[in-house]
Amino acid sequence: MSNSEQKRVQSLNLPPDKVMHKLVSLAKRRGFIFPSSEIYEGLSSCFDYGPLGSELKRNIKDLWWNSMTRRHHNIVGIDASIMMNPRVWEASGHVSSFNDPMIDDKTTKRRYRADHLIENHIEKLRREGKEEDLLRVQTAYEAAAGATDSNRALYEMIMAEGIKAQDTGSGDWTEVRQFNLMFQCNMGAVADTSSIVYLRPETAQGIFVNFHNVRESSRMKVPFGIAQIGKAFRNEIVKGNFIFRMVEFEQMEMQFFVKPGTQAEAFEAWREERFNWYTSSLGISREKLHWYRHDKLAHYADLAYDIKFEFPFGIEEIEGIHSRTDFDLKQHQEFSGKNMEYIDQLTNERYLPYVVETSAGCDRLFLALLADAYTEDAVDGEERVVLRLSPKVAPVKAAVLPLMKKGGMGEAAAKLHDELSTDFLVQYDDAGSIGKRYRRQDEIGTPFCITVDHQSLEEHTVTVRYRDSALQERIDLSRVKEFLASKLV
Ligand code: ATP
Repeated sequence: MSNSEQKRVQSLNLPPDKVMHKLVSLAKRRGFIFPSSEIYEGLSSCFDYGPLGSELKRNIKDLWWNSMTRRHHNIVGIDASIMMNPRVWEASGHVSSFNDPMIDDKTTKRRYRADHLIENHIEKLRREGKEEDLLRVQTAYEAAAGATDSNRALYEMIMAEGIKAQDTGSGDWTEVRQFNLMFQCNMGAVADTSSIVYLRPETAQGIFVNFHNVRESSRMKVPFGIAQIGKAFRNEIVKGNFIFRMVEFEQMEMQFFVKPGTQAEAFEAWREERFNWYTSSLGISREKLHWYRHDKLAHYADLAYDIKFEFPFGIEEIEGIHSRTDFDLKQHQEFSGKNMEYIDQLTNERYLPYVVETSAGCDRLFLALLADAYTEDAVDGEERVVLRLSPKVAPVKAAVLPLMKKGGMGEAAAKLHDELSTDFLVQYDDAGSIGKRYRRQDEIGTPFCITVDHQSLEEHTVTVRYRDSALQERIDLSRVKEFLASKLV
């Protein structure tokens, strides 16, 4: 690319606080995401994926599924039911302790997770390099989280450290209270307690309870993994930030079963693989991804890291990688009375496998992708909005555009569109000026515009316009399919 060609595109300054507003509006206008039941004023934290949104989401899920199952000989997938025997949730600890410690600000009337307030405070001290304060607060946090009355201890700690809400700077706190996040419903005709079932708050338990079914039917030997994509439900108290925190969302989880004592090695391998997936498969900018090591571990974990993404509203979790020990299988063994042990055929050893879990939220990844891709720039001085999505995730792979509808160009473009449609999601558009049509495609992230012009009819060639550089090249009509395929690997 020559310098003069590079200069065609100039990036424009985009303040981060404006991005979310622009994204929400683009998402609705172009059919990525709509508020749920909008004609009835919607429902808090519920959203519908529109035509382009459902394609993009499907691409994310396919990329995850392929990289986690098809590319690993020792990982298989399942699709478990959302409702399960309620004893599952007693065994997993969700009935008794899937609670969030909530705290309210009396002045701003905003509600926060008390643990998040403290963790954000710790991150701030770490960034500022205040080592002494950091050590004191971390130690106090561990003690507070493990205290018999942890609500009281968290509250006292927030007050003693003078922790304020980062978004408002206010800190007029109420006491800390616990909220259980599981949705309950009644199965059958009679609404008594015997018929209470829960909407699963995570997909993981569907995997644990199927440990032996999968192992036996697929003849898996430890180490092996089970992967699943599915809906999960949480009655989240703190809402907001569009699809970042929803009450109904999709998880992409994989539980990897290993021999006790080998979990640290497996954990490191998965940590590396999962982090790389974001850049290599989804094309997310490396510099916007961060690691966060948990200081306070969940009751089941012996090591936990989050992959976080720099959203316009802050650095937040998109995936958790947890070393879950044998907690879940042990609990299910105890509550179900069924032996969950694995017998090593070679050595005759019996043990409860340890589990390394990778748990990503599809909707959060969707938002991260949009936020990472959203750009405003100017092509030859004309401003445009571009979603710089990688071709692999972009919902529409190419647009076929006749320069003019008449003179045979419309028919030739329609024919090319039909041929490409067998392999790719492509759009045909002949409405408006060619410049306008390019802009429409830029805005939804279509990586290539293929134009059929006068020369095309004479020489059997087309022009391919690249979304990001706005540069064009002419290729043979017979090579278009091959060209697109080469860009999607
Ligand atoms: P958070 O601390 O943000 O509530 P979490 O630690 O409770 O998240 P996990 O239980 O580890 O989350 O779930 C794994 C993944 O599922 C998260 O990394 C996130 O991507 C996704 N997820 C969890 N809760 C939600 C939600 N309410 N809406 C959308 N995605 C979610």
